[in-house]
Amino acid sequence: MESTPDDDEVPEEELDLPGPPPAVYPVELDSKNLDKDAVKVIRRLTRYGHRAYLVGGGVRDLLLDRAPKDFDVATSAKPQEVRRLFRNCRIIGRRFRLAHILFGGGKVIEVATFRRDPSQRFHARHYPEPPEGVREDLEPPVKLAPLRSQTEEEDDLLIRNDNVFGHPHEDAVRRDFTINGLFFDLERGEVIDYVGGMPDLRRKVVRTIGDPDVRFREDPVRILRAIKFSARIDMGIDPDVYDALVEYRGELGRAARPRLLEELLRLMRGGAAHRSIYLAWDLGVLAELLPEVASFFDDDAPGTSRTWGRLMAIDRRHAEGKLPSDAVLITALLLGPLEELLEGARDPSALYDEIMEDAAFRLALPRRIKERVRLIVTSQRRLRQGKLGSLVRRDYFVEAATLFALDQEARGEDVPEWAVDPQSVSEAKPRRRRRRRRRRGGKG
Ligand code: ATP
Ligand code: MG
Repeated sequence: MESTPDDDEVPEEELDLPGPPPAVYPVELDSKNLDKDAVKVIRRLTRYGHRAYLVGGGVRDLLLDRAPKDFDVATSAKPQEVRRLFRNCRIIGRRFRLAHILFGGGKVIEVATFRRDPSQRFHARHYPEPPEGVREDLEPPVKLAPLRSQTEEEDDLLIRNDNVFGHPHEDAVRRDFTINGLFFDLERGEVIDYVGGMPDLRRKVVRTIGDPDVRFREDPVRILRAIKFSARIDMGIDPDVYDALVEYRGELGRAARPRLLEELLRLMRGGAAHRSIYLAWDLGVLAELLPEVASFFDDDAPGTSRTWGRLMAIDRRHAEGKLPSDAVLITALLLGPLEELLEGARDPSALYDEIMEDAAFRLALPRRIKERVRLIVTSQRRLRQGKLGSLVRRDYFVEAATLFALDQEARGEDVPEWAVDPQSVSEAKPRRRRRRRRRRGGKG
């Protein structure tokens, strides 16, 4: 239901809640991991009098001395103000407008105005104790601006009930985990911490910002995100957060299915596929997403250890910078139960469709990926027999051969040359064909 601004009116006493003072930590970040274009964007925004910080996963990864995947900027500038400062800027998003600053090679720096989630005012009571190292000049205004006065500024505001421009501390607490709620002030070389993320990062603990019960129910996709961070960065999970993960895993069914697929793929792509899926299984989360895979593991069905082996092989590929395609990742996970069900089946293809239909629905698998998975699975037998033949010329050959290679590794068997580098095999074939045809043409 669309709500009117009146619904969001902030009770008087809540307006008086003081914003919390942040903890500030001077840090020297390794400039090799810092993106030059992100630095440019921040410098320009601050030169024009706006606050601008690096935020989210980028800060987390920099502090862990990992190369961030993307660089996000949070700023006091409104989208239109950002656009005026950058020629290469595009405003995107309907619900909440963001500025994308485009650079060469398809690089995008995402610039978002500080915002808050009006439904999350409970966070005000969940700030950690004011930590040491408080910097007075960063203390946010004592009173939060009432929503109504903001909506008058038309352009600037609320597009949907769940997104309103806000102050930095509000922007920090609407985020999911403390390790993801840090700002980095490039100009001063300081981490600004409103959520206790810095100590958690040092202790390596995944903790929600605020009450985990509330935060997981609010957005169940965060359950998968908690698993991702714990597995990928090798972090512990705070005991209350752990309990909430187990208690609310059933809520995953309420999440938007495409988001579930995206986070599942991120679990597989992050270099810790094995650890992520194991943790998801252990927590009972996998049973919510892919019950056929979870019960396959539960029963310790033949092929279980091979499935774990394929996931480990995927992690080795990640380390070599050769991550397989999404269709291969999904197939690596589903192959065990698929093989089990298809074994000895009289009409394997009908049975296959039935099984895949379920999984594809639950994950909102795009048709293209679903079809690829089928081709990859059904070509495995021919590959195992070494009968490459015309398969080599199929556009799914590289993916089929990649899965075959993962599976060979999982079996502890040698990977044939063509499966080590299927790309070159598939590229070599059509060229030879073309040459032959041209020669014939020349004779005739
Ligand atoms: P990754 O390294 O996988 O990209 P990330 O933490 O950068 O992880 P993104 O999806 O890129 O995750 O999101 C960027 C930031 O947005 C996060 O660090 C977090 O602060 C915030 N965020 C993302 N998803 C959520 C969510 N579901 N709820 C609250 N905050 C979120
Ligand atoms: Mg990210």
